[in-house]
Amino acid sequence: MKKILLIGTGGTIASEMTDDGLAPKLDSTQLLRYIPRVSELCAVDCIQLMSVDSTNMSPSGWLSIARCVETHYDAYDGFVISHGTDTMAYTAAALSYLIRNSQKPVVLTGAQKPISMDVTDSKQNLSDAFTYACDERASGVSIVFNGSVILGTRAKKVRSKSFSAFASINFPELAVLQDGRVLHYIDLGYRERAAFSHALNDSVGLVKLIPGTDAGMLNYALDRFDAVIIESFGVGGLPEGNDGCFRAAIERGIKAGKLIMITTQVQNEGSNLTVYQVGHALKQQNIIEAFDMTTEAAVAKLMWIMGETRDPDRVRERFYTPVSHDILYTESE
Ligand code: ASP
Repeated sequence: MKKILLIGTGGTIASEMTDDGLAPKLDSTQLLRYIPRVSELCAVDCIQLMSVDSTNMSPSGWLSIARCVETHYDAYDGFVISHGTDTMAYTAAALSYLIRNSQKPVVLTGAQKPISMDVTDSKQNLSDAFTYACDERASGVSIVFNGSVILGTRAKKVRSKSFSAFASINFPELAVLQDGRVLHYIDLGYRERAAFSHALNDSVGLVKLIPGTDAGMLNYALDRFDAVIIESFGVGGLPEGNDGCFRAAIERGIKAGKLIMITTQVQNEGSNLTVYQVGHALKQQNIIEAFDMTTEAAVAKLMWIMGETRDPDRVRERFYTPVSHDILYTESE
């Protein structure tokens, strides 16, 4: 029988109603009691790492989860991490960089409704996560939610209330779960012990453009952070602002050794800065383009790379090196 470690971190799945709204109360041992039939599938040990609404998750929390998996890696066949849905996609992306090529599955799950409620997705999602974690062909970091298995680098929360909360962006789902069976579409093919990283540089800021954004926002972010991601419009571009003040901010930031990345606020299909004049000039500058990556993965990947190097050429090269299928194309077409 397989041995799986359940790592509890909080979230709705473990929440109970308080006078101020839902808050995580149940630990991982209590969660497991709601799905007794899992004992027919695998032997489970439980660890409660933290009890947070995932709104309070942070890069140091990602490092703790990765460290927990690494510490127990040899003793278990797979890992299930119960987590709040709000930032689960960021955690899944971060763990994909901190725990690479893992032959053993690292499966995140959670729910839109607490496990103690009569109508809840918690029990199904948690059972499915164990089913997938026990599957011979499962590997790498993924999210199991609402019957879908989504690659950790490709997940995005796309619904705030419905059970179908997550989508796989610009990449197919790895598998689906139906009646307790796994139907595989993609085998990641990881057959080795995972490679672990232990550092993140969390000095990454995000500027989401709106029509009329003040370039002062960008200047502030470039002063404040080592790397700034600009979530632009459509396939990507930068407004001219007053007298080209955005361009001036970019030039100043690059001279100061800051890393600047452009991505898009459009959920599907990604960026291509060469299409429009407003994006074209940026290609001449030393800007990184996120192409088909999710913002969640772009944030986590920058933090991970910059945990090891700040050299702009190295960061660029490593950013465009795919990890767990996080980026499919790296040239504008
Ligand atoms: N606010 C909750 C959290 O992210 C939402 C959830 O888990 O669904 O922890």
